Amino acid sequence: MPATTMEQLVSLCKRRGFIFQNADIYGGLQGVYDFGPLGVELKNNLKAAWWRSMIYERDDVEGLDASILTHQRVLHYSGHEATFTDPLTDCKKCKNRFRADHIKDGKCPTCGSTELTEPRMFNLMFKTTVGPIENADNFAYLRPETAQAIFTQFRNVVDSTARKAPFGIAQIGKTFRNEITPRNFIFRVREFEQMELEFFVKPGTDMDWLEKWKDIRINWWIEQGLNRDKINVHRIEESELAHYSKATYDLEYEFPHGLEELEGVANRTDYDLGNHTRYQSELNLSSNVHENKESSAKLALFDDETKKWYVPFVVEPSAGVERGVLAVLSEAYTEEPLPNGEIRTVLKLKKHLAPVKVAVIPLKRNHTGIVQMAQTIKKDLLKTGIGRVMLEDSGNIGKAYRRHDEIGTPLCITVDFESIEKEPATVTIRNRDTMQQERILVSELSTYLKNFFMS
Ligand code: ATP
Repeated sequence: MPATTMEQLVSLCKRRGFIFQNADIYGGLQGVYDFGPLGVELKNNLKAAWWRSMIYERDDVEGLDASILTHQRVLHYSGHEATFTDPLTDCKKCKNRFRADHIKDGKCPTCGSTELTEPRMFNLMFKTTVGPIENADNFAYLRPETAQAIFTQFRNVVDSTARKAPFGIAQIGKTFRNEITPRNFIFRVREFEQMELEFFVKPGTDMDWLEKWKDIRINWWIEQGLNRDKINVHRIEESELAHYSKATYDLEYEFPHGLEELEGVANRTDYDLGNHTRYQSELNLSSNVHENKESSAKLALFDDETKKWYVPFVVEPSAGVERGVLAVLSEAYTEEPLPNGEIRTVLKLKKHLAPVKVAVIPLKRNHTGIVQMAQTIKKDLLKTGIGRVMLEDSGNIGKAYRRHDEIGTPLCITVDFESIEKEPATVTIRNRDTMQQERILVSELSTYLKNFFMS
């Protein structure tokens, strides 16, 4: 059975070391979470899968890793200073604050009062002082999306790679939004990571590319273990579109708390490059741009056929890493009845996402021969490059299997007396999903694991 409640997930995440409340010992910083020993592995694996699919498996995308601190002018010309806002309302009775667009029936979600203040717009960007002197002009923003640096570095990337449209620039990195009401565990937080691709195309081909990217991204989520039936494709109404968008799909997922956005796939037109470019008047822009006399770069491509410069349109698939982690965790969480009546909790994560790939368990933790063999096997298996292989010497085999089921370890290898007593040496391998055990030759382990994890 998949997870039905967020509580089950939150509890597993804390108990087994996936995700902790930030500054827990001081009562917690709201809307901020830390990834623990297993969470960091899962998150890295998800990001690696995205990077691989975007950069290594394609021949038309380059990577970027830009800074979090963002120049004021970037977020001025991008439109974020003026429009990156949510409507905020206060309950006059209980004094709680909410996003006005999240309120139903005009009632306070906490106390039910209908006495709410008029909504006022609240900018979600965090500011910080740059340098030792604090004054009104001396600040930078923490980026509210990774995308803007892709636009502002467009010229440098094009000049250094000689790319022509269609091509993309991809980036994974931290993003900050001062959400009015962070909630639902890591679903809506104030510090998170985005995996964003800005894909630059010729105007006129943009709507086709939007469709293509929507489909590519749905398939990618299925490869991460999500069930297609739990993904809903929502075309955003024109009146609801973000300031830069001509058309957007939200890929929604049935999270434990409800159907909500996992990833947005947007047609951002020539809005961003058009706003950041110099020589705007020569470039025949389709968007409403602010006049820009501050930028120094021509953010355009030369069309070899028409012999004219043009500003490419941008299709942007933008996914949140935390929402991705929450989705794959909730999909993988399974409680299964065993023949003896007990319930086994097992995280049926896809192999490439599992935080620990293989646990090597010495049957007796005080037996030198067994422990040494387990250590040698662990070292040898690391060389296969499959990811984290850990020595699990807690001493109780039943507990070790339960723990590794719960954290989603696909295989457990047990070194027992037979392993050290008989020639040629063998070990048992237990499969997480089938719970079947088989005995295999130690000399064949590397090949076995490579086949298992690479397939
Ligand atoms: P929402 O409507 O849920 O606030 P959004 O439409 O503002 O999201 P985008 O600006 O499209 O989100 O950002 C792209 C992706 O970044 C989202 O699909 C989501 O996965 C992630 N994301 C956005 N805001 C948050 C947040 N506060 N916490 C975690 N992830 C987020």
